[in-house]
Amino acid sequence: MNLVDSERRVLSGMRPSGQMHIGHYHGVLKNWVKLQHSYDCFFCIVDWHALTTDYEDVSLLSKHVQDMAIDWLACGLSPSSATLFIQSQVPEHAELHVLLSMLCPLSWLERVPSYKESQEQHQGRDLGTYGFLGYPLLQAADILLYRAGIVPVGSDQLAHIEFVRDVARRFNHLYGREPGFEVKAEAAIRKLGKKNSKLYNSLRQAYQEQGDSEALDTARALLKELQNITLGDKERLLGYLEGGGKLVLPEPQAMFSESPRLTGLDGGKMSKSHNNAIYLRDTQEQVEEKIKRMPTDPARVHRNDPGEPARCPVWPLHKLYSSETTCDWVQQGCTSAGIGCVECKQPLIESVQQDLQPIQLRAAEYEDNLDVVRGILASGAERARDEARDTLVEVRQALGMNYR
Ligand code: ATP
Ligand code: MG
Repeated sequence: MNLVDSERRVLSGMRPSGQMHIGHYHGVLKNWVKLQHSYDCFFCIVDWHALTTDYEDVSLLSKHVQDMAIDWLACGLSPSSATLFIQSQVPEHAELHVLLSMLCPLSWLERVPSYKESQEQHQGRDLGTYGFLGYPLLQAADILLYRAGIVPVGSDQLAHIEFVRDVARRFNHLYGREPGFEVKAEAAIRKLGKKNSKLYNSLRQAYQEQGDSEALDTARALLKELQNITLGDKERLLGYLEGGGKLVLPEPQAMFSESPRLTGLDGGKMSKSHNNAIYLRDTQEQVEEKIKRMPTDPARVHRNDPGEPARCPVWPLHKLYSSETTCDWVQQGCTSAGIGCVECKQPLIESVQQDLQPIQLRAAEYEDNLDVVRGILASGAERARDEARDTLVEVRQALGMNYR
């Protein structure tokens, strides 16, 4: 049995529901590319999640999955640094989902804030389905299956991560209570040796009696460092810190990325459903045309009317793509009517084109070598399944389902 270092393990996924745009790149993928070098990363193309809203028409699903894999690779995710896989190729996600569904109160799902919102957003589709209601729980299974401690998300996803933590806590509370838990936990403490058991006991006491959360963190760090301790004992001691029982499924933490939401061509949030996105696969001509068509500060009706970058949808793109010098030039030129909007857009067009070019070249290489892409996803799924199976052994055992 492998010891899982939850605090170093990252899981994140993306729905293959269409083309990827530069908002995904700057908001999510660049961060993943960075994380893959310092964490044990699992990145999952969550095709079952795409079905929660797009179950009626699956004609493009496999194309979207393939494109997503190619775009991820083209943007710099590497199979030698991260595990890249397709959710449905690891059926263990479904097993954990069904087990968690037994203990998840309906009211928890109904009060997830995005539930009502997205139903309204996707009007015209019948989302009164079991799958759509349950998707946060499927997300919980996706994360808990890998005992991932860190989930990089946008701030809008905080409620989802809280939900995952609630589900994990409920699972541990219900099934972490093995017979004789306290006796076993006390025995495990004695196995730590004189110094460490004394330390553990005093930290546990500080947390339980004074609610000292720093002591809790220190105790967790202590357990993490200990080498000669079985996974079972580690789970017991983690659980014993907070009372309860064994910690079978660790609670994940959200990790927020620093990059803000990228606005789209119309100044609203860039999103494929708002038809306001620059896509990673847009040609140089498409990029030029899209940016040229962008509306600018409405105050600049005539070339000589001064403007204010803060009111202009082009400005956030400049801030992301242009050098400080160019930004100063824009700020100066716009507010003094020294430059026109067409002029202002030109360096931006070039930077976006330049930024996309290497990504597109790499994507084209993968397009020509689809077997390589399939191979990467297949070995990713294998690696993911190994980890998933380990967790399910623990989960089944906790439920008394380790039949022999
Ligand atoms: P849809 O229109 O179907 O909602 P979308 O383009 O908004 O699609 P999502 O599938 O909702 O994309 O989002 C996938 C991931 O990309 C999420 O983690 C989300 O936070 C992030 N993301 C989406 N749009 C942006 C954006 N404009 N800027 C930064 N991050 C974004
Ligand atoms: Mg969206």
